[in-house]
Formats: sequence, C-alpha cells, structure tokens
Amino acid sequence: MKVTDHIQNAKDTLFSFEILPPLKGKSIQSIYEGIDPLMEFKPKFINVTYHREEFIYKERENGLLEKIAIRKRPGTVGICAAIMNKYDVDAIPHLICGGFSKEETENALIDLQFLGIDNVLALRGDSIKTESNFRPHKEGHAFAVDLIHQISDMNKGNYMMDDVQLEPTNFCIGAAGYPEKHFEAMNLDTDLLNVKRKVDAGASYIVTQMFFDNSKFFRFVDACRAIGITVPIIPGVKPVKTLAHISFLPKFFHIDYPIELSNELLKCKDNKAVEQVGIEWGIQQSKELKAYGVPCIHYYTMSNSTSVQEIAREVF
Ligand code: FAD
Repeated sequence: MKVTDHIQNAKDTLFSFEILPPLKGKSIQSIYEGIDPLMEFKPKFINVTYHREEFIYKERENGLLEKIAIRKRPGTVGICAAIMNKYDVDAIPHLICGGFSKEETENALIDLQFLGIDNVLALRGDSIKTESNFRPHKEGHAFAVDLIHQISDMNKGNYMMDDVQLEPTNFCIGAAGYPEKHFEAMNLDTDLLNVKRKVDAGASYIVTQMFFDNSKFFRFVDACRAIGITVPIIPGVKPVKTLAHISFLPKFFHIDYPIELSNELLKCKDNKAVEQVGIEWGIQQSKELKAYGVPCIHYYTMSNSTSVQEIAREVF
C-alpha cells in the first residue's frame, strides 16, 4: 500500500522507522532483532537505507596500491522483500542516484515492482567517502529531481526503450527535505525551491532530515506551504544515544542541537547518561509533533532500536 494511502486512512499520527542493512557478512537476524521490539507500535512502513560503494586501497606484492570498490552494507532490496514477507508491513527501499546509470535505475525499479514494493524514497545520495563532492554516474542522474522524473515517467509507462508497449509502474515516490537546509544549498529559499521541484516532478510526500528543535520543523512546514507544497511532510526524529553522537550527528548531518539539549548533553559522563537524555528529548519532541498533527513520525534507528522503543512506548 502507498504511504499516501496509509496517511489518508489514518486517524492519528503514524509510527514508522528506518533501518540500515547489516554490515556485509552479518546475517539478517540482526535486522529482525532490531525490528521485533518495534512491531508492537504497529509501524505502517519501514524504510531501508541504501549504501553505495566506498573505495579502499590494498597493497599489492609489488608495493603498489590497488584501488578497490566495496559495498559494506549491501542488501537493501532483499531486506525489503524479507520484511514484507515476515511482518506483512510495507517496506520502502531508498533509491539513490549515486553509482547508478539510468538503465540500472530502470532495472532496479522493475525488480521492486515485481516484488510488490509500492513505495520508494528517491534521493541523490552523498558523495563517496573519499570524494569531496558528489559525482554522478556518467550515464546517471545528478540530482534527486531527475531520478523522480524517471520514476514518474515509468509510472506513465515511459521507459527508456520507446519502441515497445510497456506497462506503467505504480510507485508512490518520497523525497527528502531539510528543515535546517541541505548543507550544499546556497540558502534555505533555494533549498525549498528544490523540494518544490521534487514535488512537481512527482514526489507525493517528504521525509525530513533529523532535527532536534521542533520550531525549525514548524517553520519549514510553513515555508513549504507558502510556496505551494501541499504533500504530507513527515518529520524525522533521531534519539541521541552515545557520547560519540554528541559531535558526530551535527558534523555528519549538518544539524544543530538547541541550547537546552546541548546543556543536558554536556553534563553526561557516559553513554547511558546520553541515552537517557536522548530518550527524554525524543519523547518531548514526539509529543509536541503529534500534538501539532504531523501525519507520521519517522524514527532513525541507525541499527539500534532500544531508544526508539522507549520513546514509542510513551508516545504511541
Ligand atoms: P537533492 O534533492 O538532489 O539535493 C542535493 C543538493 O543539490 C541540495 O543542496 C539542493 O538544494 C541542490 N540542488 C538540487 N537541484 C539543484 C540544481 N538543479 N542546481 C543546483 N543545486 C541543486 N543517503 C544515502 O546515500 N542513502 C540513503 O539511504 C539515504 N537516506 C536518506 C533518508 C532521508 C530521509 C534523508 C533526509 C537523507 C537520506 N540520505 C541518504 C542522504 C541524502 O542522500 C543526502 O542528504 C544527499 O546529500 C542529498 O540528497 P537529496 O535527495 O536531498 O538531494
């Protein structure tokens, strides 16, 4: 079922969450162990992230370095199929531009359609870790909006081969939004216009980057509505969990902690204390978002669902 139909049928704020595929070599059991404790909150959909290749350098016998591409977390599509089969819940694969030619994207979408997957979250993807800027595949897309155009075209039956009678796909397309601005955007206004372009291209809902200050989300929603974006906007919530997160999350995701939260985090001496602050902040944040009437709250578990479970117990 499409995310937009789940939202339309809902009487209250929905619960959803996002997981990462396990590191290559680990079994799918670790995924189930993360999902099982969250099933009591009846998620309507579960997102599975996509991780592109990274480059590593291996020393050869002659002393020269060999550059090797590896994917540390493959399995997005297989995990989606396994989730739908085991839990009977919609699974949403993230589909990125990076590393894909348009034809590979088309073939990936055909696989998803055959598996009965109704939704995709269409993203540009980040740059490869060893590259400072995002570099598109030479036959691929440079921006999420171009990927969304391709999926929308397939939804109209327009594939890359134009000489064959083709059945339209029927994907509900999600796109990303950034209440605190995407780090590469010139300013919030140009970034908002990018969200509008993605919606105009066929995105039916927006999921936001994590944020810790609800007022930033509320301002983002108001600004979206003011420029004619009418689709559902789903807030992304991430509980801070470890001492390492304190600096990692702002650095990696380009977000700020509000002063009340940073003051509490500065008092923490160990991971347990951070986790407790993260849970309490997440409960407060989620209750306020729910009272505001958001269609769904999307939790970033980052492969660890215990904090999300504690929050959901108080909120859903
Ligand atoms: P875009 O919408 O293409 O925007 C990228 C930047 O380009 C923005 O600054 C935008 O303002 C700018 N821009 C857009 N069009 C133009 C134009 N024509 N000219 C100039 N500038 C332009 N990454 C992964 O690799 N895998 C995942 O599974 C994943 N899941 C995510 C889930 C969510 C909910 C979110 C919010 C992010 C996720 N990401 C994931 C990260 C995402 O891929 C990065 O944030 C990426 O840098 C941008 O992706 P986007 O789809 O927002 O890009």
